[in-house]
Amino acid sequence: MERVILVRYTEIHLKGLNRPFFEQKLIENIRHALKGIPSRVEREQGRIYIVGIPESDFEDAIGRLKAVFGIHSISPAYAVDKDWETVTKTAFELMEKQVEKKPDLSFKVFARRSDKHYFMNSDGINRELGHLVLERFPSVHVDIHKPEVSLCVEIREKAYIYAEEIPCAKGMPVGSSGRATLLISGGIDSPVAGYFMAKRGIVLSAVHFYSYPYTSERARDKVVELTRLLSRFAGRIRLHLVPFTDIQMKIHEECPSKETTVIMRRLMMKIAQRIAESEGAKALITGEALGQVASQTLESLCTTDDAVTMPVLRPLIGFDKDDIMDWARKIGTYETSILPFEDCCTVFVPKHPVTKPEVADIRASEALVDFTELIEKAIENTEVLTVKYEDPKLI
Ligand code: ATP
Ligand code: MG
Repeated sequence: MERVILVRYTEIHLKGLNRPFFEQKLIENIRHALKGIPSRVEREQGRIYIVGIPESDFEDAIGRLKAVFGIHSISPAYAVDKDWETVTKTAFELMEKQVEKKPDLSFKVFARRSDKHYFMNSDGINRELGHLVLERFPSVHVDIHKPEVSLCVEIREKAYIYAEEIPCAKGMPVGSSGRATLLISGGIDSPVAGYFMAKRGIVLSAVHFYSYPYTSERARDKVVELTRLLSRFAGRIRLHLVPFTDIQMKIHEECPSKETTVIMRRLMMKIAQRIAESEGAKALITGEALGQVASQTLESLCTTDDAVTMPVLRPLIGFDKDDIMDWARKIGTYETSILPFEDCCTVFVPKHPVTKPEVADIRASEALVDFTELIEKAIENTEVLTVKYEDPKLI
């Protein structure tokens, strides 16, 4: 009796003519996620099946599939010969496991028949199998509206029988929406922001600014590790590590103290945009949420937007901090994010930053200092890593 995994993808159905492209991307991403586990990914009539997974790798495969965007849910299923005796025997085995967990469960048989030559139609299977299950397990009852267990039988080349539906990450396959560049700090928010954009099909690259020796080697490792954790969902990520000390020193020395944070953020955006352009990214992504800190008022956001021509995507803009923290826990970045290493933003923080900067004022202050050479030097000395989830854990 072969065990397979049946993959459901919903949103892709919305895409009309693009559908084959989306499906192809999803299949590629599934293959990538299952690398190292013997398996075959097959497509049949709007469904994806993964076959040939050794029993010992089954749980691992399920865990990996849960992180693939574009998958709505999966069901571990038995693929068996479709003679009626085998179908009922397999259905009983599945029900037995469920009844062990809850003897008085409610259930419904849900049959689908793509093989129109099969000797019974779906209504017939529903009725007949429902009847046999009731006979075999007298403690259960039928609920056709809200069953606790849906015993599903699909008659195709083979019979696919399953009773469990495992919810997955949903969203769109990574690679179906183009590329954008995430400004990643060592904090809680930016990895979550990256997660949400990858969930909409974006391929991520990432930029991190560090201020060695004011920020430590450990702070750098922390960002590489966060990027690695994010790549579990987003696929491999090119990470640009930009040396930012000279620029920060210059801002600190030459700009009005209350404007240093805003100007620093504008320079980060400018450099990030240059890097984004160099690799065909169409937008920048940050972890900002409206009102969270002084540099995230609407006025401040307008001032940072003004520094670049690319759209700045802020998927967390309407989130409360505790909801962002819940997501960080859910996607596994929280514990790393809270490790106490300095971020370059927390070095040289002014005592009284402007909370409502005027774009014109900030432009004027910035124009008094020539950053051109420092920007070029920072880009020149940027280190680029390709980070993937299979890499060893860093911290
Ligand atoms: P996070 O938790 O993501 O650090 P935050 O609430 O601490 O966010 P800020 O430190 O003001 O907020 O940063 C806002 C956003 O700016 C971050 O979400 C990130 O996108 C970007 N950012 C901040 N610091 C850096 C950095 N050192 N390198 C790259 N991007 C950064
Ligand atoms: Mg931060």
